[in-house]
Amino acid sequence: MAQHRIVKGVSVAPGLALGPAHVVHARPHVVPTWSVAEEDLAREVDRLREAVDQTAEELRRRQRAVAAQVGERDAGIFALHRTILTDPATLKGVEATIRDQRINAEAAVQALIDRVTKRLGATAAEGMRGWSADFSDPWRAVLDVLMQHDRESIVQGDEQVILAAAELTPQVVTFVARERILAVVTEAGGRFSHGAVLARSFGIPCVVGLSNLLSRLEQGMRILVDGDAGTVQLKPDQEDVDLFLARLERRKTREKKLGLHASLEPVTTDGKRFSVLVNVESLRDLDTFPPSHADGVGLLRTEFLYMERQQFPSEEEQYRLYRRVLEKMGDRPVTLRTLDIGNDKQLPYFKTPREANPALGWRGLRISLEWQDLLRVQLRAALRASAHGDLRILLPMVTSIEEVRDVHRIFDEVRRSLGDGGYEVPASVPVGIMIEVPSTLFVLPSLLAEVDFVSVGTNDLVQYLLAVDRDNPLVAKLYDVHHPAVLSALDQVARAAQAAGTPASVCGEMAGDYATALLLLGLGYDAVSVVPMLLPEVKYAVRETSSVEAREIATQALAQTTSEGVRSVLAGCRQRLHLRQVAEGSELPADSRKRETR
Ligand code: PEP
Ligand code: MG
Repeated sequence: MAQHRIVKGVSVAPGLALGPAHVVHARPHVVPTWSVAEEDLAREVDRLREAVDQTAEELRRRQRAVAAQVGERDAGIFALHRTILTDPATLKGVEATIRDQRINAEAAVQALIDRVTKRLGATAAEGMRGWSADFSDPWRAVLDVLMQHDRESIVQGDEQVILAAAELTPQVVTFVARERILAVVTEAGGRFSHGAVLARSFGIPCVVGLSNLLSRLEQGMRILVDGDAGTVQLKPDQEDVDLFLARLERRKTREKKLGLHASLEPVTTDGKRFSVLVNVESLRDLDTFPPSHADGVGLLRTEFLYMERQQFPSEEEQYRLYRRVLEKMGDRPVTLRTLDIGNDKQLPYFKTPREANPALGWRGLRISLEWQDLLRVQLRAALRASAHGDLRILLPMVTSIEEVRDVHRIFDEVRRSLGDGGYEVPASVPVGIMIEVPSTLFVLPSLLAEVDFVSVGTNDLVQYLLAVDRDNPLVAKLYDVHHPAVLSALDQVARAAQAAGTPASVCGEMAGDYATALLLLGLGYDAVSVVPMLLPEVKYAVRETSSVEAREIATQALAQTTSEGVRSVLAGCRQRLHLRQVAEGSELPADSRKRETR
């Protein structure tokens, strides 16, 4: 395999694709500037207005198309872009630039984009960059119209393509009809950007953070996208293509077969019940699995409720949503994580100071405890909704016991005030913590004494244990979930939780790899929580394994001194399962190690 042609990025939406790249000119690199004679200025302004009208019409068309395919909620971004584009003051400003500086429309639009990007985009906060992208995206489309980029030729065709762009924006994700998009790959873009959300809704494999991708691509170059591992391979050779096609075939067969087992209970061959729950990070996720296939929601990332709005959601809005999730899950538990913003998850309407190290900064529970009204509103809504199901509260980014005590105090106050207000409040709602900051590992027994359950957030725990930014492509290679230190930490939590009789689960993405889920079962965890898509294979693997075998996997993995060693133990486990399934006429992918879970 031609390793040097593999570009490593960050996975935003899973899936595999092979096809020709089409580079989207959402960010023209060279915008020509020329001076316009006095008598031609009116015509230049007309050119601008026509391009704006044409773009606004195109945005309206995309809004309708997206609404028809995945719903109004996702389509809303195009309405926002149209509002931005048709803002009279902005348009007047661009017209004034044309007249005052006597320059062409393209140059005036580029000047506007540069100004806004400089003002908003200079910040390290993704939310602000996202805002700047929201502003620039429709104006870049105007540039495309003015410069008559080659969109028309590709739009007219019917070829399926892999869209490549500088940034992951909604314009890029909807550049041509959904059926024609095999995958989207970009140089920049966050997991929580509007473009990322759209790609996931459409089920388009998507990889971001691919440094210098565009300079290495040519229009039409064949590329191979692995949305599971977050990689792009340029010009794959025949061997790579054959491997890819075989993998794709296996994936299809597997999905079909596993689907048949998805409704069965995750019980080991010797009768041990293990819970397999789901992570939910948007309302759409809720519709992707039948509630009876999951043992509950192990992680309800409530950020989306805040991120998809223009202001903080009210108590009533939150209540309605939490109630909806609880009702949907019936008597199965729903673990609601309190707001975990900060770092990579910024709210456009909540401006926080620029931080040099946002991952070590103001995020998660730290914000909730400082802006206690936020937490109180969320807890009020959650407690009110808890009458409609089995609710648990999970606290993110806990560092110390004092924080847990503060939340308990606030929780009691909220409960009392709801009671005083005439609400029926359940006697007890379990409160648990995420184990994701290494400090918690060293005070586990005292923390466990104060909480009802723990859930290990390996996405963050790995980043903090190994000092590797989870979203930085420059150090993506070093983000190693199989590092023996990670296993040792997981073992430590499982043991301490068992000793204290406290239920423990893992909700970080590594738990979605079925061999790792078996390892966690062997370590003594009660549950894993995984993205809905992975439910069937994790459940199937549990049903195919005995608790003794799981324990053996854990023992062998803990004995390893290198990540490679741990990976080979997991590979052995996959191999055994694979052989067993082949013998039985079903199969799990022997090579799912390639899905680098994070
Ligand atoms: C984690 O850190 O593992 C986790 C589940 O939370 P998030 O990915 O939302 O930070
Ligand atoms: Mg986390």
